[in-house]
Amino acid sequence: MPSIPLVDTHCHLFMPPLGHDVTGALDRAAARGVDRVVVPSYDPPSWTEVRLLAERPGVFAAYGVHPWVAGPWDPSAWSAWWDGLDEIACPPVAVGEIGLDTKLPDGPGLAAQLAVLRPQLEYARDGDLPVILHCRGAFEELLAEVERFGGALRGVLHAWSRGPELAARFTGAGLALGLGGAVTRDRARRLLQTARTLPLDSFILETDAPSIGLDGVLPAETEPAHVADIAAALAVLRNETLETIAEVTTDHAQQLFRLGA
Ligand SMILES: [Zn+2]
Repeated sequence: MPSIPLVDTHCHLFMPPLGHDVTGALDRAAARGVDRVVVPSYDPPSWTEVRLLAERPGVFAAYGVHPWVAGPWDPSAWSAWWDGLDEIACPPVAVGEIGLDTKLPDGPGLAAQLAVLRPQLEYARDGDLPVILHCRGAFEELLAEVERFGGALRGVLHAWSRGPELAARFTGAGLALGLGGAVTRDRARRLLQTARTLPLDSFILETDAPSIGLDGVLPAETEPAHVADIAAALAVLRNETLETIAEVTTDHAQQLFRLGA
């Protein structure tokens, strides 16, 4: 275990089966050196669940409307909710998860997704909060949205799975890349090339539990403790010490989400 703690920067701690044993999951994480967890939400009902979780030490909330549910929510309703965020006990560390996804069959169209994404990006910029971005099938469109802010937007593109060229365009636009369980899989060639070749300070670590598995671990079995395995896989890939991986990725996560040491 590295002497520097690790951070799970993306975990859906309220979702089953994880949500049935939050205390156990956090204890097992702490036992492996993972002492902080950022929990993104995805729609207004989930905001309340995330807000309650963030009352626990080491758990931090992000609020957002996910592209998968871009349709049913009236933006005027959630912008009013967001206006009240300053008063809540557990203020958000990020706006997320938000983004674009054109791979979902029967999902909302790109125009509907953009209509929900844009005000959230502006909210993040105006409130000096980072964004937690999800993207499938619309990388050029998302990059264009981020670039419109001319460097004034910070955040992470989570669950990065693509090659180094595209990765460098997103880091060049000021975003971090979230590396998760996929770095433990030999077959994820493009991703492994990114993880090996980009500067280490391009990355933060995440599990996306319980959505993405590791080599030998099913998605439903993943939990924040597995950040330790992701860090170990990255250390081997990059031929660096676990200590260095922990130091650089934790420092980055702390700065991005202003978690404090
Ligand atoms: Zn997620």
